[in-house]
Amino acid sequence: MNRLEKTAIVSAIATAVIALIKFLAGTFFGSIALVADAIHSFTDIIGSIAVLFGVRFSDVKSKKFPYGLYKLENLVSLFLALLIFYTAFEILKTSIDAAMNSVLQEAGAITIIAALFSLLVSFLLAKYKFKVGREENSPSMLSEAKHTQLDAITTVGVLIGVIASFAGFPLFDPIMGILIALLIFKAGAEILFDSAKVLLDVSLDYKTMKKIEKIAAAEKAVKVKELTARNSGRYIFVDLKLETNIKDLKKVDQLKKQCEKKIRETVPRIDKIMLDIEYKKKDVLFYSVPLMQKNKNSKIALEFGTAPFFGLFKVINKAGKKKLLESKIIENPYAKKSRQKGILAAEMLAKNKIDVLFTSGEMHKGGGYYALQDYFIEIKKTNKKFFGELLEEFK
Ligand SMILES: [Zn+2]
Repeated sequence: MNRLEKTAIVSAIATAVIALIKFLAGTFFGSIALVADAIHSFTDIIGSIAVLFGVRFSDVKSKKFPYGLYKLENLVSLFLALLIFYTAFEILKTSIDAAMNSVLQEAGAITIIAALFSLLVSFLLAKYKFKVGREENSPSMLSEAKHTQLDAITTVGVLIGVIASFAGFPLFDPIMGILIALLIFKAGAEILFDSAKVLLDVSLDYKTMKKIEKIAAAEKAVKVKELTARNSGRYIFVDLKLETNIKDLKKVDQLKKQCEKKIRETVPRIDKIMLDIEYKKKDVLFYSVPLMQKNKNSKIALEFGTAPFFGLFKVINKAGKKKLLESKIIENPYAKKSRQKGILAAEMLAKNKIDVLFTSGEMHKGGGYYALQDYFIEIKKTNKKFFGELLEEFK
């Protein structure tokens, strides 16, 4: 059993104890609000058990259920919501009947003690769940903690009701009962909608979708073509289609792994990522070449890292016809650095979205060379000596 499961069980037991105390005190010492609160606590326990049950069995994957039984949890919640509606209706009926009744019973002092005790337990329980939720990084435990916190606030309402009733204003008690019944209705409706949505494969929320898209789009040499994702139980299934102009299958595979890893690191509770990378030839390519001077007559530099300038140019390639669109020369601010200049220059080219780097000589396999590989910048040899000469090739 892990810590989350243990916490859920401790919570269920503590909730059962206060539910029983509230139920007995309310029934025998005249407080409908306290009985209503007790029933609410009972539904909470059923909810916790359902979740626990769902967590235990949803991980089971079989040939028959290759996507796991994650939705079991949502299915259980759906039935639970119906049960909650029923209890809310019962509480509402009893409270209204009592409020209409002219001879209202005043609540006994015991009800105040029971409400106070319940409040204390709920308060401590919420604190404990928040702590575990944060330490275990569990969104479901954190939402459970929030729920318990709301329960404590509800009990404050009950406390006010029983104190007023004890002090000689018995009408306050069924009014609190009605308010709690409405709160239970609301909780039930939320559970109902949430589970129904997941069962019907609602898309993942917009914020998380945008997050995934941003991570994928930040990868080098890819474009996001299509992204769909859905919830299943507490898990997420992602379907991602990308486009790349990289032909090398090994590199595409590497790209795939990198992208998947980054998404999993940022978005929790992902079960499966279906990642498809399609090859697509780029119509517009960005080229670069190391230069000695800042003009078109410049000689092409022999070394890449120490080159003081870089010539950048954009070429459109449509139907086998290449055409130079624009060219410019930028300074290499890292040329005189004593260390890592190759890596820094590669990074700068990557930032300029360069696809191809022309070199005049054989490139030595140092940090710069590997950085270019990492950024998926293709290295091409040219026998041209000058920048202008190289550009001529594309005119
Ligand atoms: Zn509750």
